[in-house]
Order: sequence, then structure tokens, then C-alpha cells
Amino acid sequence: MRTALPGPRSAQLLSRQIASESSARTYPRRLPIAIARAAGCYVEDLDGNVFVDFLNGAGTLPLGHSHPELLAAIERQLPLLTHGLDFPTEIRDEFTAAQLAMLPEAMRGRTKIAFCGPTGANAVEAALKLCKTATGRSDVVAFHGGYHGGSHGAMAVSAGVDSKELVAGQMPGVHFFPFPYALRSPLGGDPRTLGARCAEYLERALRDPIGGLPRPAAVILEVVQGEGGVIPAGSDFLQGVRRVTRELGIPLVVDEIQCGCGRSGSWFAFEQHGIVPDVILLSKAIGGLGMPASVMLYDERLDAWGPGAHTGTFRGFQPAFAAGVAALRIIERDGILDNVRVLGAHALAALDELANEFDVVAEARGAGLMLGIELADPETGRPDRDMAIATQRAALERGLIVELGGRDDAVLRLLPALNVSRRTLDQALAILRAAVGAAAKPIG
Ligand code: PMP
Repeated sequence: MRTALPGPRSAQLLSRQIASESSARTYPRRLPIAIARAAGCYVEDLDGNVFVDFLNGAGTLPLGHSHPELLAAIERQLPLLTHGLDFPTEIRDEFTAAQLAMLPEAMRGRTKIAFCGPTGANAVEAALKLCKTATGRSDVVAFHGGYHGGSHGAMAVSAGVDSKELVAGQMPGVHFFPFPYALRSPLGGDPRTLGARCAEYLERALRDPIGGLPRPAAVILEVVQGEGGVIPAGSDFLQGVRRVTRELGIPLVVDEIQCGCGRSGSWFAFEQHGIVPDVILLSKAIGGLGMPASVMLYDERLDAWGPGAHTGTFRGFQPAFAAGVAALRIIERDGILDNVRVLGAHALAALDELANEFDVVAEARGAGLMLGIELADPETGRPDRDMAIATQRAALERGLIVELGGRDDAVLRLLPALNVSRRTLDQALAILRAAVGAAAKPIG
């Protein structure tokens, strides 16, 4: 670190941004830097301060910033074609084949791919429309703590209340059910059986003739909730939801926009739980280097819609296909998923130690390299937003960028590049430990 934050050149751009940009801007409010350049897991601001970047473009950079092989793949594509609508091209075909080849055996040969606008939210919109069209039904089941995007339909199936209350005219017919979040168990009782009980609660509601819930067009969930505070669902919950949705003919949509593409240690997070969904949503890391792309992979039985049922001008962004294919090849070639599993376990153990050492760290959680610690007031047990903000700031001042999430923003979330080295990871964990130490007092 060369300057206090923000440094003078960053401060200049930040104030120009405040003067001209919408008050909806978010990240630079709590992470006040202007970025000059980035490589791998490191970001440099305009004042020459260098940070370990565990925000990772909100999870869009599986191999970190500016990966040379991905830059080369994009450079090869640029002069050939950039914008292709949905005309077939060789790189689109290669991308499609590569994505379909990642599917578990049971889904191969009967899965269609739809290219959506290029954002995660647009894939969610597509899934809602597809499932409504295919079933002829209108209601949707979603979960407490879930996040699926900022567009109107995606916001309606997301759980954040504040953003919804400000926008009149929500998509109707969305029903929220408890998600197995053991630390703040929505159903009380033994946390070890929470997943099974959440699934059972949903099953009862779906089967109850006077339960008030019309059979829904879809059930949508994140296998690991991201914005909701890094909450992995267990197999008991996911298998229970899968069984009842299958028995009742309700399409199960897994939103793997954040937890997919290898982040959890398998290409799809659901693979670790022995379930086969009907619809998979992918975006973020699928474009390899933060190149915008989003896709919906779905069982061909649902392919009930006609030409133009879901369109989007930017669903054929060829550089994203080139970077996405190249990233997938590198992930396979270099055994990156092993790195995710090994370093994920190492990091979670280190975060568990933090939870033992500092009583404000209520819990460490995660799957693969999608990790978080939840900060809570040791007296009341309530999520401690102020402490989380202070810790995020203390980490930034020591050279680590981390995001917040969860109830009251009390969860510090780590999303390193999947190819992060042990050295960089340990460097980040040491900074995080110092930051927690600066913001909190150790136990005893
Ligand atoms: N679903 C999940 C699980 C997400 O984490 C996000 C973004 N954080 C979205 C959907 C929405 O993606 P986008 O911001 O690209 O619209």
C-alpha cells in the first residue's frame, strides 16, 4: 500500500463518478478505489496501491484478470466476428459442444442450450418464461435468502425485501420457503436435520389441498446461496426438493450463475448432491474473462416455446464464446477443479480457526472457493453489519478486496480466482485475520 485510501488520483475519479453516475452504483462506495489495471489475483489502483482481489469481478474471472491465454483467444476472435445474434458460428458451436460435454451423464443427449441476453438476470427471466410456457402455470417457488438478479422477474424471485418494497407492481405468484441456513435456522430445532425438514415443509405445502399454493410452474434455487451470505444447501434438502418436484411434475431450476463453472469444486455445484435438475442457469464465469454471456441448459421436454420466445440483441457475443471455451480447456488441462477442492478445504479450515479465535466470527462456511465468514454480535447473536463493514475496510487498507453479503451485509465473502495459488490465498487469509483482529477483540 502506497497511500491512504482513497489515494489522490482515485479520489479524483471517485468524485467525478459521484457527480455523473446514478446513485444506484454500489461497489466503490465501500471499496473506494479507481482501478488502473489488473493481472491474475491482483488489482492495482490509480495510485499504485496493489490489492489481492477476492471480489473477482463478482465471480466472473475463473482464471483471474488478464489471463494471457484468454487474452490471446479473444484477440484471435476479434477480427473474425464480434456480434453474431444467433447465427451459427464455429466458435459458438465449439462453446455449445464444450458446455454440453460438461453435463452429467444423465443429462447428455437430452439437454438444449438457450443463449440469453448476456446477464445472469436475463437467464433467470428466460427460465421463468420457459417454465411458465411449458407447464401453463404461473406461480413460482423460491427461497428465503435467494438472489437471482435485478431485473423485474428476477427481483420478484429474489428474497431481498428492501429493493422490492421500493418498486411497485411486482411479478405476482412468488412463494418463499425456508432455506437450510443452519446458523439462523428458519425452522428452529436440530440444525443437523434442518435440510430434511425444510424439504419436508415445502413438500407438505405443495401437496396440501388447502395449503393455499397452486401447483407452481417452477421451483428456483441456488445450490450455494451467494449474495444471501454463502450458504451451501446439503444433499438432504436438495434431494428432498428434487424428489417432490419430480413427483409433482414441477420443473426444478438451479441457478448456478455464481456457484457454477467450477467454483464449488465440481463444474456444476448440484453434481455433488446426486440430483438432476430440469433447468441450469449459468453466467458470470462462463465468459472466461468477464466477457458477458449467459445460458440456460434445459431438458428438451420443456422446449415448448416458439421462435423468438426469448430474444436478446447481445446473445451472440463471440469474444465471450472464445474466452469461455479457452477457459474451460485450461480448467481441464491444468486440473483447476482439484485446486478448487484442495485450496477450498485449506481456506475453510483457516476460516474455522478465525471463528475459534474471534467471538465476532459466528461461523465460517463455503463450498470449494466460494467462502464466507459471518460476523455477529457475541452478546445478542445478531448479524453485525457495522463490524463487517469495519472489517471489509480494514482488509482493504491492508491490501485485500472482499465483498459483503447476507443478512445485514454481515458476511465477508471470498471469491478468489479458481487458479489462485496457495501463496496468494495464504496472503489473503493473513490479511483477513489481521483485519478481523483490528476490528474485533479475540476470545478470552
Ligand atoms: N443469480 C445469482 C445466483 C447471482 O449471484 C447473480 C449475480 N450476483 C445473478 C443471478 C444475476 O446476475 P447478473 O448480475 O449478471 O444479472
